[in-house]
Amino acid sequence: MEPDDEPGGDPVCWAARVCPECGAFAEAEPPTRCARCGAEIPAS
Ligand SMILES: [Zn+2]
Repeated sequence: MEPDDEPGGDPVCWAARVCPECGAFAEAEPPTRCARCGAEIPAS
């Protein structure tokens, strides 16, 4: 198994967009605000 072998995929990139409060996926690049719960999603 090679978990990080997706072409063009970068798990770190999308993981930074996940809301720390509710786990929703942000539509915009951090820093932004969660569309579901309004929590701030800081740039990492
Ligand atoms: Zn949220």
